[in-house]
Amino acid sequence: MKIRNLTHYRTDDIRAIILPAIRKRLVEVPSGAKPKLYRDLLVKVGYGRRGQVTGWAYLGRVLVPSFNHSGGYMRLALPKERGNLNLEEELAWVAAHEADHVRGLNHKDMTCGGAGRIPGTWEHARTLTLRLKPQPDKTARAASRRDKRRTNARAKVAEWERKHKLAQTKLRTWKRRLKRLDDLS
Ligand SMILES: [Zn+2]
Repeated sequence: MKIRNLTHYRTDDIRAIILPAIRKRLVEVPSGAKPKLYRDLLVKVGYGRRGQVTGWAYLGRVLVPSFNHSGGYMRLALPKERGNLNLEEELAWVAAHEADHVRGLNHKDMTCGGAGRIPGTWEHARTLTLRLKPQPDKTARAASRRDKRRTNARAKVAEWERKHKLAQTKLRTWKRRLKRLDDLS
């Protein structure tokens, strides 16, 4: 399973939450499908606008040229703020629902009729936490910008000192030459 995570939530946490929900469904595949389907599953995780976890998936294994991907494909959308949502449980069962689509099921084929939590898909998430990626703090960013400017200024000082020395040498040479010419006349 490959995760393309475009959110500020941690990818390892997303994986820990959705993998148990997905793996089981995509290994226990209906007849005719390949086992271990979850290995070539691509999961794109982004933000949704509705303040809840939503999902979308292609039915069955597909070729997605824009991603240069062949296999199962699902999109999951998370709210930017968790609000009073149980983000972990919601993410788990929505991923399981989409995994059912990936293994070729329509809503009428699903045990719950396609609506709501499927038992056995979200309970593991009760003890898991979806954390935010560490944000580099402002003072650290400002310090690193200052470091870069200092390095650049140091290089400029060295460069102009070199040019300054060269100019002094050239000036001495031409002054000497002029003096000799003046003395001869
Ligand atoms: Zn559905």
